[in-house]
Parts: sequence; C-alpha cells; structure tokens
Amino acid sequence: MDQVKDTLSQLTLEEKASLCSGRDMWHTKEIERLGVPSIMLADGPHGLRKQTHPDDPLGESVPATCFPTASALAASWDRALIQEVGAALGEEALQEGVSIILGPGCNIKRSPLCGRNFEYFSEDPYLSGEMATSHIRGVQSKGIGTALKHFAANNQERRRMSINAVIDERALHEIYLRGFEIAVRGAQPWAVMSAYNQINGTFCSENAELLSDLLKRKWGHEGIVLTDWGAMNQRVKAMHAGCELEMPGLDNGNDALLTAAVREGRLDESNLNRAVERLLTLIFRAQENRRPGFTYHPEAHHALARRAAAEGAVLLKNSSGLLPLERDTRVAVVGRFAKEPRFQGAGSSYINPTRLDHAYDEMEKLAAPNSLSYAPGYTPRGDLADADLICEAMKAARDAEVAVVFAGLPERYEVEGLDREHMRLPRGQNDLIEAVAASNPQTVVVLSNGSPVEMPWVGRVSSILEGYLGGQASGGGVADILYGEFNPGGKLPETFPLRQEDNPSYQHFPGGTKTVEYRESLYVGYRFYDSVKKDVLFPFGHGLSYTTFEYSRLSFSAETLRDREPLSVSLQVRNTGAITGAEVVQLYVHDVESTAFCPQKELKGFEKVVLQPGQAAEVCINLDWRAFACYDPAVKAWGVEPGEFDILIGASSRDIRLTGRVTVMPVEGTPCAFASGPAAYHSFPEDADVLREDFEALLGRTLPPAEFTSGEAYTINTSIEDMQNSVLGRLLGRIMKRRIDAMIGPDPDTPNALLLQAVAAEAPLRTFMMAGNGITYALLEGLVLLINGKIWPGLKALFAARKAVRR
Ligand code: BGC
Repeated sequence: MDQVKDTLSQLTLEEKASLCSGRDMWHTKEIERLGVPSIMLADGPHGLRKQTHPDDPLGESVPATCFPTASALAASWDRALIQEVGAALGEEALQEGVSIILGPGCNIKRSPLCGRNFEYFSEDPYLSGEMATSHIRGVQSKGIGTALKHFAANNQERRRMSINAVIDERALHEIYLRGFEIAVRGAQPWAVMSAYNQINGTFCSENAELLSDLLKRKWGHEGIVLTDWGAMNQRVKAMHAGCELEMPGLDNGNDALLTAAVREGRLDESNLNRAVERLLTLIFRAQENRRPGFTYHPEAHHALARRAAAEGAVLLKNSSGLLPLERDTRVAVVGRFAKEPRFQGAGSSYINPTRLDHAYDEMEKLAAPNSLSYAPGYTPRGDLADADLICEAMKAARDAEVAVVFAGLPERYEVEGLDREHMRLPRGQNDLIEAVAASNPQTVVVLSNGSPVEMPWVGRVSSILEGYLGGQASGGGVADILYGEFNPGGKLPETFPLRQEDNPSYQHFPGGTKTVEYRESLYVGYRFYDSVKKDVLFPFGHGLSYTTFEYSRLSFSAETLRDREPLSVSLQVRNTGAITGAEVVQLYVHDVESTAFCPQKELKGFEKVVLQPGQAAEVCINLDWRAFACYDPAVKAWGVEPGEFDILIGASSRDIRLTGRVTVMPVEGTPCAFASGPAAYHSFPEDADVLREDFEALLGRTLPPAEFTSGEAYTINTSIEDMQNSVLGRLLGRIMKRRIDAMIGPDPDTPNALLLQAVAAEAPLRTFMMAGNGITYALLEGLVLLINGKIWPGLKALFAARKAVRR
C-alpha cells in the first residue's frame, strides 16, 4: 500500500477532518503519530512573502526578490522568461522552507479600476492562461507548489467577500474561466484557491459546478482546492462541492461540523476520504521535495529581475526616435519616482525586497559624467500641484536637451481591498508633465503603475515608456531601455482607453452592495473596443521597438479543417532595422459569420521572436479546435459552429499585418448552430449601455436585487455596514472598528491602513469567524436572528451553539 493510502486507512475521523483546515495563518496541521508533517504556504505571486510574525497578516516578511508584478510580466509576452522567474521564486521558497506559493493570480482585468489589477496578467483569457501556465511550470519545476488564484470572477475589490458576480454562461466560460482552464490543463497547479465572491448566487468555495464538475472532472485537476483567507462560508456544503482545505486555520468549529456531518449521514465518509487523499498526496509530495540547507543567489535573482523589468516595459510612443538617449545627452531627470521608485502594489503580495535600484542611480552609471540633473517635481502624494517644485523642474528641463519625467500612481492608489475611483494620475503629476513638456518639447515620460492611466498630455510629449510595477530592479531595467542597452519588446497585455468612461464595464463597476452585473458579457477590453471601433489611447498588444519588423508569407497547414484537426499557421518576420530586437507576433481569430454573437476578433496564439538586424525567421503558431470554438450553454460544452474564420496576424489588435481565411467543417454528432443571443449583443452598443431586459434575456432569468434594502432580513453574509439600522449591528460595527483601529496604528493613511478600513467597512458578519475564539457559524446564525429582532429563537440558537462549542 502506498504512503497516502496507508496513512488514510489509519486516520481517525477526527484526524481526517482536522487535516481539512489549517493549523494557523500559514500552515497545515500535522499528525505526529502517523508522520504527517505540517507544511507552510506563503504569499506571492511575484516574490516570496514569508511573514516574520506569522500572526500579523500584513506585517514584516523575510527579504526576498521582488520581481515585476503580473501586469509587467505579462507585458513581456515571454513564456520562457516567466518560467525562469517562476523557477527563481521556487528556489526562494526552497530556501525558506515554504512548500506552496499562493499565486499566480489569473483573474481578468474587467475594469482598469480593480485594485488588484497589478497582480493580474491581462484582459484576455488566452494571454492570462499562458502566462499563468509558465509561472506555475517554473515554480513547480523546483518541487514547490502553486495555488492558482482567485478562482473565479474575483474582478474587483469592492465587497469582495460577499459580492455576487452576475455573469452569463458564455462570458463566464469564455472569458472568466478560460485562463484558469488553460493553466490547470497546461501546468497542474498543486492547488487552486477559491475566490471570496459568489458567482450567480453561489460562493466560489461551495460551488460544486465550479470545483467538481469543471475543475476536477472536466479539466482533470489532481491537486487540492483551498479557500482564500476567510472565504469559507458553509463548511459541509464546501466539502460536498470539492473544497479540501479551509485557510487560515481558525478556532471556528468547522472541523467538528465535518465529523458531525459524517456521523449524522449528511456527508459520506468516502467524500471526506477523497479530500484527505488529495491533501495527503500534496503534503507528502511537499515533504519529499524539501531541501534543508538550500540557498539561492540573491544577486543572480536580482539580475533576472532587472532583465524581467526591461522585458516587461512597453514603449508606447517614440516620436522622431528620441529614445534611446545618447550617453552624453544632457538630461533633466524629473520626478520623485526616479529616486523613490514605485515598484510593487500594496496588500498580501507586498514583498520586502533584497535590494532596491533607483532609476536615477542606474542612469548615472550609463550616462556620461555630469550629464544628469534632478528635480523632484511633485510631493509624495502629488494630489495637488506644487508650484515651487514645478518651477524648479521647468528650469531643469529648459537647461537640458531632454527631460525624462518619472511619473505614475502613488502607492495608496493601488491597494488590495480597494478599487481605484478614477483612472487619472495625481493632479500634481499631470500638471508637472504639461509644464515640463511646455518647457522642453523633447520630453520622455516613464510611468510606474500596475494598471492603465489616462494621459491628457499624450500629444505633447515625445516618448512614453510604460514601466508598469517593475519590481526591485525596475530602475535598472528602465535605465537600460533609456540608454539603448536593451531594445524594448514589451506589448500591452491590456487596452489603455482614452477615458475611464470608455471602458465597457464602466456603468456596472463595481456594482451594487449585493451584486455586480457583467452586462458587457464577452465584450471585455479589446473585444469591446475593436468590435465597436472605439478610439483608444493605446490598443491591446501595442508596443514599439528601436527597430522595425516586416511580416510576410502567411501560410496554413490546411485551408479546410475537418474533424477538429489542428491548424498550423506559418509566417515570416524580418528585422528591417539596424539593431537586434524582439517582436511579439499575435494571432487573432475573426469569425466571419456566426449564429451566436462574437467579438470582432479574439487572441488565440502568439510567439515572441528575437531577430538580428536583417535576419528573418519563420514563426509557427499552432491552433487546436478550441481556437474556433465558443461555449454553448444549451449543452454546457464547447463547440465549433462550422464556417469561415479569418486568421489575423498582427503587431497589436489594431495593427493587423497579414490575413487569411480557413473553413471549418462540421463535426458529426456535435451541434452546428448556437443560440443567437439577444440582438443587442450582435450589434453591441458603442457606449456599452446594455439594457436590463437585454441582459436578462441573455441570462435567461430576471436579475436579483443589486442593492441591500433597508427592511430586508439580515443574513450571515450581510455586511456590517448594511446592519447599521439595528442596535446590535451598530454595536458589532463598533467592535469591528475598534479591532481594526488597534491593528492600524498611528497613521490611518498607509496602504495597509486603507486596506484594513475597507475590510472593516465591507466585511460580512461571517468574517467574525476570522477572530477564532470559538466563534462558529452556528453562533453567528444565532446572532443574526437577534439582529433581525427574533430574540427568543436567537437566544435559543446562541445557547445551543455555545453548548456545541463546549462539547
Ligand atoms: C488574498 C489572497 C492571499 C491571502 C493570504 C487574501 O486576502 O485575497 O490573495 O493569498 O489573503 O494572504
């Protein structure tokens, strides 16, 4: 008998249940008598966040390499690079005795405003899925596990612990689940983390369709599902649904609920056994892979972080080839971020970097002596324009040949737990850029932000380099690009709209207090902008190089595809410039005619090639039948509607260089036509203003109420904020506030303080279980009865719950 089966057969019911929740914040439980060790999980995803004080979720962590965050990594469109970064993360976990890194995050950037966009890859599911696959492969190649998160549709921070994402089946499967599917099928993450939110009325942690039918059965996931921290709602329901591990470990009586459910016949023991088998498999595997004494090379990882930062930077504009700079060009370096870099986002992914490069210092190393001057330009918050700082910067810009302005979003704009309210840079920075550009037309703007910003000055500056949040070595990566040490090859993994209002989710983000309606359905990001031909600031897939590329000789392995045969697409790319450079060749599919509504084009493949001057290479991109398929809600499966499809090869979604057409033949026994969907989705409105009735027609049901209304009965998932009409609710609000204030410390304006305040305001009553101390679900249910004014039943329930805890 193997170790897992042998151990399983010796575990008592209580021991089995105990393995289904953590020991504490970051560990699983051990069972000493049978040699089941405890393993450690720690945050990522772009560095290792191993807490030094394990009980303080937002406290200090051990030094680790802070690689570029997911937006920047995705902008490299470089599978090999991301795998290398993943492997480096794995090595750091090995050194620190961490067995599972909590990441990568594969959620779709539905809105540019989502507070955690910096932790996510793209607005496109194929690109997200490919990037996540590489990341997972890299980490797991070192024997360290990953937890792909947040499964699924966790596309906003507002009310993230309770919000119900109302999504039609096609959008859910084609946009919000597809990236996860690619990563699970392609890389088998050891774990998948279920998200906090609900999808169409069911919490992700207890969603059997999501966790069992799709993830485990259809996609073949062999690992475990663990909850996001505090995402457990009803333990027994979650176990039925396929959620193996509750995190963190809390004194909340949930293990006892499992044993009671088995004893009372509400949960089949075989179900628990299956969960424990998966858990033990993972735990023993982690134990086997431990390498005590292993150390990584911080300098080598820092060098990799620098390369990754350069690969993930996107040259958005370079009029008259102002960049790269000559070494002896007199440059005014303007902007505080040149010396106080913004390089990562705030929250659970915050890394304590092993070292931190500044762009100014790194530029100085590459530039001729005394060719740089510096002016800070704005205050750290930058909310208001500072006239003195701007005057000083203008003078510096006038005295120099070129001005390079370092701008971007201050730390408090990109925080887990909070969405941004707008897409603008702080006023002080926008005014500074306008003033500097007016003083010197040779102005370059270097941006540090994890998600798109509006650029009202775009026409008045010569060059723009989007550095994203480039990690601890971003200063070096940016300097390398500015001085031509590195030829930029990054491409935007998301559209930069002109204005926030242009985004298709604008009217329904972040939704009401109870639901958020994804009325735009499939029309997310460029799928919308390109379908309605809306002007954008910079399109999806855009990015310039210091060289140029020519595309030619498109050919297909077949013009007609039968029986789901794959298609191989070939073309030639030539570097027509004078220096070596990388090009990301993008393949989009356009469905020429279909019954079901479809976006104008969708990314289905890409390859990155590096070419010497004059060199040409054959690029080959393979497509399987899924590249032509859409999800058919009627049969709950993917299928292809036969017909003609255009293959579009582009340097961005708006720069299509080559086009060809293939015909896909029907496959016997599979449906040929799909439900067409409401007319409004065929000619999608340019302002994305989808009427309620059209969305309801697409959903096939009426919409649930979006807002909590006063007079409505409270539940365990009502937020404390919504309970303020009740005396008890107000009291709980005060208790919560007091606890949070104690955690915040003296400055209420730090990113962590902002996060905690958001949690306090929006958290559902259920999160009181996070306090441990024997606060159980049943106890809170009793409390809800009391809050609803049902005094006697409430007291009875409380009494029974207390008694059960004591037992
Ligand atoms: C975040 C997760 C994170 C976990 C542990 C949660 O609040 O949503 O991404 O891994 O905390 O820190």
